[in-house]
Amino acid sequence: MRARTAARVAAAVPVTVAAAAAALKAGHWRLYADRHHIELTPQPRRSCPNCRGLGGWWLGGANPEMEACGCWANRPELRIRLLPVPAWPDEPPF
Ligand SMILES: [Zn+2]
Repeated sequence: MRARTAARVAAAVPVTVAAAAAALKAGHWRLYADRHHIELTPQPRRSCPNCRGLGGWWLGGANPEMEACGCWANRPELRIRLLPVPAWPDEPPF
C-alpha cells in the first residue's frame, strides 16, 4: 500500500517541475535549468572585435563553413547534473 502511494506522488512531480524549466540569458552566459540539469553556455560578446557578437563568421568557398569565434568557443560550458533521466537513453560522453 505504501509503495503504491509513493509511486503516485512521483508521477505527479515531473509535470510540476517541468513547467518550472527556465532559460535565462544574462551577460555573456546563457543559463538553462530544468529538473535534470543546470547548464551555463558561453555566449558571444557583443563588444568582440572579431565577430561583433555574431559568434563567428562564414569562410567562403564551395562549401562555406561557420568558423566559431574564440570569444565564446574557448570558454568552457558548465553543466551540473541534478536528477537522472530514467526514461531516455544516456547522452553520449564528450
Ligand atoms: Zn567574438
